[in-house]
Amino acid sequence: MGRRGCAAREAHGYIMDVNEGSALGVFTCELCEVSSPYSFSGQKPPNTRAIVLLEECYGMKDPFSPEREKFLVLGSKCCLCSKTVCVGTDCSLFYTKRFCLPCVRDHLWQFPERVQNEVLRKKSVQKTSSS
Ligand SMILES: [Zn+2]
Ligand SMILES: [Zn+2]
Repeated sequence: MGRRGCAAREAHGYIMDVNEGSALGVFTCELCEVSSPYSFSGQKPPNTRAIVLLEECYGMKDPFSPEREKFLVLGSKCCLCSKTVCVGTDCSLFYTKRFCLPCVRDHLWQFPERVQNEVLRKKSVQKTSSS
């Protein structure tokens, strides 16, 4: 018996590419206004078997990766205010659920210290240094 490292992958041919790349719509972040076409929304990216995302999100296949199971998460909805926000660290934060940064700041005391520090650090980066 030879060892086959990539056995899981070989069942897939190139037949399923038909709908790939066809965008369902355009995702737009309500905070930074970045926009990008998305090709799936929900918790399960297409053409993946083992991946179930922790959140409902918008995403697309990673155009830079030849692997079909690579995908990019563009953004998601804030679980508090339902704003659509990108996953950029200036716009949202994932802590068990997706929160937009304005909501994180409103509820900062409810987050663990690690998250608080992260957000506070962000704040101080954005501030122009003055004293
Ligand atoms: Zn954004
Ligand atoms: Zn929010």
